[in-house]
Amino acid sequence: MTRGALLLTLALGCAHPAKEAEAAAPGLWDYRVIYAGGDLRVTAHLPGSDLIITEDQGAHVHDLKGATKTGDDSWRCASPCTLTYEFELEKDETFLPSTPDLWLIRPAGSGRGSTYQLEMVMPPGVAFATGITPGPAKNTYRAPAADMEDGPYSAFGPFDLRAMSSSVTLALPRGIYRDAEVTAWAARAIDGVTQYYGHFPVPNAAILVLPGSGDEVSSGTARGGGGAAVQVMLGRKITEDALHEDWILVHELLHLGFPNLPKRQEWWEEGLATYLECIVRERLGITSEEHLWRELAGNLPRGLEDGALNRSGSWASTYWGGAAFSFLADVMIRERTQGRRSLEDAVRAIVAAGGNINESWSPELVIATADRATGVPVFAELWAQLAENDAPKLGVEDALKKLGVTGKGLDDRAPWASIRKAMGQRFPRPQAQNVDPER
Ligand SMILES: [Zn+2]
Repeated sequence: MTRGALLLTLALGCAHPAKEAEAAAPGLWDYRVIYAGGDLRVTAHLPGSDLIITEDQGAHVHDLKGATKTGDDSWRCASPCTLTYEFELEKDETFLPSTPDLWLIRPAGSGRGSTYQLEMVMPPGVAFATGITPGPAKNTYRAPAADMEDGPYSAFGPFDLRAMSSSVTLALPRGIYRDAEVTAWAARAIDGVTQYYGHFPVPNAAILVLPGSGDEVSSGTARGGGGAAVQVMLGRKITEDALHEDWILVHELLHLGFPNLPKRQEWWEEGLATYLECIVRERLGITSEEHLWRELAGNLPRGLEDGALNRSGSWASTYWGGAAFSFLADVMIRERTQGRRSLEDAVRAIVAAGGNINESWSPELVIATADRATGVPVFAELWAQLAENDAPKLGVEDALKKLGVTGKGLDDRAPWASIRKAMGQRFPRPQAQNVDPER
């Protein structure tokens, strides 16, 4: 039975089918999309409802059938609703970033309680690269309908899709890079994040590589919402050295293992990824212990110069202030638990409680979860001292000094030298054994 027929049966079996359809909450938004010469032919089985066709979509939609125009900008699809249309994609991009909310016409309302399913029929040589959670059948994807608008990054183009592990797919533009080098770069970053968290922090994620100009990794972003994806812009002339020095991919992958917080706490999301990126790359052996501490000592102090983190909003507060908060938490947890617990236990507990890029949490929930995991109220204290105030009890400079980070190098006779060594301890296994890029 097709899913459309299933929906129809459910509607007929109900005493008040029209009312059920009106609510549009239960059920499946079922889409089949055929990619043909850069256009998308879409068939949708939806709950009968008013439809959302955005102004931007309107310019690209042709041959819309199954919907009735009810006003200047409003459409309606009767129950049961079968909709067909063609969507014209931008033609001048070989690798076209394009999330489904751009080309899927959907029922009005929040979609809460509904699921959308997408079947993508692609011709040979062109791939649909996406971080949306895979569905039960091949080339299908499934996610909460409420997440469609801000879902994970997706793109069309001649990508090679490589399974890097059971959780991560790498979408690599074909014929542009030295593939083995780029695959090794992705494998290293995935491995560092996996080892820090104990497992990869989300069940499914995609890394979308988009070709850019130049010879380095120029930008990256991460997005969840019914899956997870990191999108990175990689210069077409990228060198192996530039891949080795890149920090962006590790930073973006770290974002997957932390919940979304209110805008006022962006410093926490960015700061944690900034601090952990330094730690993870050193623990992988990409950077040296000296480099790690030089980088932290050179950057953390300026992060707390603009005042309380919840109020500042400056670039330095957001990245290095949030990093200072995370660094101090790491040091204080280790010091108070005699090295039995660390920031690692806190972030692992947050992920175990479902706190990842697909979820939105309050800062209070993060604090409670983290402090419960370590057994010491370090996050509650730092929240009061650094987020709501600008009065750290333990300053960054004092902490660095006690750890033995001096202007002249690292001092192993410092009182907290053993904590410093534990913070930078290499991961137990070399990264090459962790990921099989050919799998
Ligand atoms: Zn970031």
